[in-house]
Formats: sequence, structure tokens, C-alpha cells
Amino acid sequence: MKKIAVIGAGIVGITTAFELASLGNSVTVYDQNSAGAEEASFANGCVFSPGFVTPWVAPGLPKTLLARLFREHSPVRIGGLGAKELAWISKWRSACKMDNYLVHRSQLHNLASFSSDVFKDLTNRLNLEYESSKGFMVLYRTPDEQRNASRILQTYKEMGVSFLEITAEKARKLEPALNAETAIHGGLYFPEDEIANCRQFALLLKDECEKLGVRFEFNSSVKPLSPTQPTVIQTQNNSVKFDAVVMCAGVRSAELLAPIGVKVPMLPIYGYTLSAAVRETIDAPLSGILDDRNKVTISRIGQRIRVSGISQIGGSPKAHLHGAFNTLYKVLNDWFPGAAKTSENVQEWKGARASLPEGIPLIGACRVPGVWLNIGHGSSGWTLSCGAARALSNLIDGRLPGTNLIGFGMSRLD
Ligand SMILES: Cc1cc2nc3c(=O)[nH]c(=O)nc-3n(C[C@H](O)[C@H](O)[C@H](O)COP(=O)(O)OP(=O)(O)OC[C@H]3O[C@@H](n4cnc5c(N)ncnc54)[C@H](O)[C@@H]3O)c2cc1C
Repeated sequence: MKKIAVIGAGIVGITTAFELASLGNSVTVYDQNSAGAEEASFANGCVFSPGFVTPWVAPGLPKTLLARLFREHSPVRIGGLGAKELAWISKWRSACKMDNYLVHRSQLHNLASFSSDVFKDLTNRLNLEYESSKGFMVLYRTPDEQRNASRILQTYKEMGVSFLEITAEKARKLEPALNAETAIHGGLYFPEDEIANCRQFALLLKDECEKLGVRFEFNSSVKPLSPTQPTVIQTQNNSVKFDAVVMCAGVRSAELLAPIGVKVPMLPIYGYTLSAAVRETIDAPLSGILDDRNKVTISRIGQRIRVSGISQIGGSPKAHLHGAFNTLYKVLNDWFPGAAKTSENVQEWKGARASLPEGIPLIGACRVPGVWLNIGHGSSGWTLSCGAARALSNLIDGRLPGTNLIGFGMSRLD
């Protein structure tokens, strides 16, 4: 039995703590907030997508995004560009080559499929009840949008992704409330993907962690790791020595690792969501869709609708970029007009995706003995969390990971 500290009680830290404790380890989770899942895992898009999971790198993506950058409802916005952002963009652009994309897409698909199995296993074994619905659809408004997307469908088939190419009629059968006045050229349907409430799942699993003896130290801000004692956790309250430390601190991970010589090219890519109560069930989505043009998802979570989108590079974590929420309201209105009560009690939220230029996370040993990484999950952290946690915990416990982790290690930063 090892004494292990997990830094961060987001979905990644909580799933990691659960897996480590299930293997018999003594686990303490530290978080600066007063509860779990208060940062990126708080109000994300809730799309659990083993099929659609896509790295935020793709051939042609820089050109497409640049062409749309100055349009009113652009999926990408610039909040500010400094040296850090420019260096990150330069690395990201080289990762967008076709051969890189194919490798990373396939690595993500493997991990996401494993994650889906672990997610189902936990849900069934622990009887976890959270808001969820089955199926996820990507909608193309024009032949051009569909043509662009079709270039990668053969790759999906080769990877064994479970999906169907669908017509507008089929899309409207699957989601009968889709606005008849918004054109649909076609779409993709991922029957195995689902909408599931990330924060609810995280808090339920936190309770299960406590049943296994995991201790949660909230309101404890961990200081950057010490080069001389990297497995000693120092907070404002105390210093405690562990056998191992697992970094799951989301966007703050890079600064906590810097003093021990681990340089991670991580950038927060900010996103926005709004959540509103369903007004008319008959007008609301049954599950989830992605509007491909605006890269906005609309998900049904229980009696609410969540709209999620925008990738903002640079700027501050709190200030809302002008027009960002307008885009979310517009896309909601395009597809499901009248479905949500948007005039009262709407929760508008901004979160940060901890993103690495290659679009895939770092999972595994760090070069410093005793320090492990589960960081940089970008736009797919909810989907990948359960699998990443199990694979990493197996490694820490001296077992085989259970899935192929090649490509997720530190060596890719060399
Ligand atoms: C707008 C938006 C929409 C998204 N939609 C989806 C989606 O539909 N599907 C999907 O799969 N993913 C989605 N994601 C991505 C997903 O939400 C994240 O990848 C995931 O939540 C990351 O989890 P995490 O635990 O790594 O980070 P976090 O949830 O941010 O947790 C990190 C924790 O570390 C703690 N911490 C940081 N520094 C310290 C310190 N020094 N001391 C103590 N504690 C510390 C923080 O308080 C925090 O609780 C979305 C993200 C955003 C922003």
C-alpha cells in the first residue's frame, strides 16, 4: 500500500483517487476550492463522446479557423496574444499535419473507448445515478460543411468508430424538436456517445472515494512542488510527505510542476456555457447535438438545456468576451427555438480547458521519481477521465495500464 497525494479534485483528480484507493492505496486529495468539481469540471458541455472524441488539432483547421476568426459567431476568439500564446499556436500549427492528426485521433479513440468501458463499469457497479441520455449528433448545414467533414470518415471506419451517416430526415426523426426552418444538409450520428452530467458524476464518485477511505483536504492550496522534496505536499496549513504525488490540477498543473524542471506547454483555452431550464419539453432536445459550423453543442441534462462553445485564446479567466454568450443563444435559437427559459435564471459560465498543442493529454510517469501526471485533457477531459484514471492508477501500482498509453507519456515533449 502506497501513501499517495492527488492534487486537484476535478473529474480527473476524483476518478484517479477512486482508482488508486480501489487498488488499496491510502489517498489524500488536495483542492484549493471548498468542494470538488468547481473549475473546468463544473458546467462543461457534458458530452461523453468515445466515438466523436476529437483532438483540437486537424489538417486544415488553422486555415478554417483563421477564415472565420473575424466573423461575428466565430468558434475561435482571441482574448489577447502574448509570447506564451504565440509559442503555443506555433506548436499547435505543426501538430495539425495530417499524419500527426491520424496518430493522435487514433490514440484518443483508444483511450476514449477504454474510458467508456470504465465509465459503464463504475456506473453499474456503484449504482451511480446522474442525468444522462443516449446518442450524439453532428449537424452540417451546407454541402460544403459535410464535404469537409467527409474527408475523415474513412479514418473513422478504419478505427472502428461506431457512427452512422444520416440524412436531414433521419436527423429530424432522432431529434424531433429540431427547428424545421434551419437547413440541415446531413449529419453524423454516434449511437454509443452520450450526454452525462460531469459534475454530478464527480460528486457521486467523491462519496464513493470517501467510502474507500480517501481523505479530501479542501480549501488547501498546494504550493509548487519542491525540487529537493517533490513528493512533499506543502499547503498554507502543513507539509506532508507522500510516496507518490499525482498532478491533476488542470490549468494550474504547469506552474506547480515548473520548479522540478518539468516544462509543460499548457495553455488555458477558455470556453463558455449557458444552462437554462426547459420551457417546453416538446421543443427540447432529447440528447445532444453539435452545430458543426459554430462548433457549439446543445445538450439535454435532466430538466435543463446546456449550450457550450467558443475557444478563446488568451485573456483573463473571469472577464467574459463580448459576444460570446450571444453566439450560444443564437445557436440555441437556430436549432431549438423556445425550448429553454432564457429570460430568467440562466447560468452563464466560463471555464478553462487545460490544453496541450498536440491535443492529447499527458498521462504517466514524470521524469522526477514519485511524481505522476494526469493533465492536459483539453476539450475531452470528461470523456477521457475514467480511462485515464484507471490506466494511470494501474501504472502507479506496478501493473499494466489496461489500454495502450503509447503517445501519452512525457517523451513526446522531447
Ligand atoms: C466550456 C467547456 C466545455 C467542455 N465540454 C466538454 C464536453 O462536452 N466533454 C468533455 O469530455 N470535456 C469537456 N470539457 C473539458 C473538461 O471539462 C475538462 O477537460 C475536465 O473538466 C478537466 O478536468 P480536470 O479535473 O483536469 O480539471 P479541473 O476540473 O479544472 O480540476 C482541477 C482542480 O485542481 C484544483 N487545483 C488547481 N491548482 C491547485 C492548487 N495549487 N492546489 C490545490 N488545488 C488546485 C482546482 O481547484 C480544480 O478543482 C469542456 C471544458 C470547457 C471549459
